[in-house]
Amino acid sequence: MIAPLMPTYGDRDIAFEKGEGPYLFASDGRRFLDFGGGIAVTALGHAHPGLVAALQDQAGRLWHTSNLYNIPNQERAGRRLTENSFADTVFFCNSGLEAIECGIKLVRKHYADKGEPERFRIITVEGCFHGRSLASIAASGQEKLYKGFGPVTEGFDQVAFGNLNEMRAAVTGETCAVLVEPVQGEGGIRPMSTDYLKGVREICDEFGLLMFLDEVQCGMGRTGKLFAYEWSGIRPDVMALAKGLGGGFPVGACLATEEAASGMVAGTHGSTFGGNPLATAVVNAVLDALLAEGFLDSVQARAADLHGRLEALAARYPDTILEVRGTGMMVGLRTGPANGEFVGELRRQGLLAVPAGENVVRLLPPLVVEDSHVGEAVGMVEGACREFAAAAA
Ligand SMILES: *Cc1c(COP(=O)(O)O)cnc(C)c1O
Repeated sequence: MIAPLMPTYGDRDIAFEKGEGPYLFASDGRRFLDFGGGIAVTALGHAHPGLVAALQDQAGRLWHTSNLYNIPNQERAGRRLTENSFADTVFFCNSGLEAIECGIKLVRKHYADKGEPERFRIITVEGCFHGRSLASIAASGQEKLYKGFGPVTEGFDQVAFGNLNEMRAAVTGETCAVLVEPVQGEGGIRPMSTDYLKGVREICDEFGLLMFLDEVQCGMGRTGKLFAYEWSGIRPDVMALAKGLGGGFPVGACLATEEAASGMVAGTHGSTFGGNPLATAVVNAVLDALLAEGFLDSVQARAADLHGRLEALAARYPDTILEVRGTGMMVGLRTGPANGEFVGELRRQGLLAVPAGENVVRLLPPLVVEDSHVGEAVGMVEGACREFAAAAA
């Protein structure tokens, strides 16, 4: 008999009833250090006072009006996102896939309105993940995501990771955009190099394509800058955000330059809930924290410490941790043991982490972790390494 909850998620054998900063408390009283972060969502930890206050204040006044009316919180959040990025304009939605969907529509409409409707194809990169809508599973190009869901949505061409020659060769007269994650998250914490992102920008410029970044996971301070693309010095034309944007409140956004968004006039796109007063009150509170003087510098410092300590651990347990990779508070441990087993052992130690592609264990700490939390987490990773080493001996 099917469970009352559609069984799309596999076994879920733990429930939490309270969160505080980087900690989660299970209903049986156990305390966990949460380095999964709801998969890179709770960027400011749990029950952050600024976020709680913003949500409570808005909840007592007004929840929802629809986008038929002006929403001041949304206007302010949109203005702040444009002031702090390459973008001139923002569309608010409720999730990552919706932000991607908006971007796909936007880049296609841009060329359709220029009299080139045949240019609708988007180049994506092997190992990518862009969400679970019919278009975004096609964009992701992975059979395990699209198989069984009918004809695969037309218009996506995939090229090998890190291969600019292949990307260049894949451009045709039907190509309108390149869509990449500056750091692949689900794919196994695979950062794209600065040179690669610059090369993608050059290809886009050479062929007149729009550069569309998926920063749903790696954006909003995760890499130690507000947006991951900032490390490469390039500016994209379109960018999707979600996950950390609401720190746990569901919200997404598609950002674009004025030129790229030229086709998105009244009536071309919309959302009932997108950018509602509650969601955008929280986005503003998240921005307050991330834009505070020195905040991202301290994220970078702490992330460097975490990477360094994990590298040292990998050197001592080379059969257990084969590689430490990633950037900022987006760390991947490629493990000798199956990543699911490693995540299970970490949980027994009291540390929550998330598996990803290429047998990687993802650590996505809240950006507010302190030295003591880093030390505690590394101690638990070490505990797990010791268990696996003992089992192998
Ligand atoms: C999680 C994720 C998505 C999808 O976001 P949802 O909110 O689950 O729809 C898209 N792109 C990337 C890079 C992601 O990590």
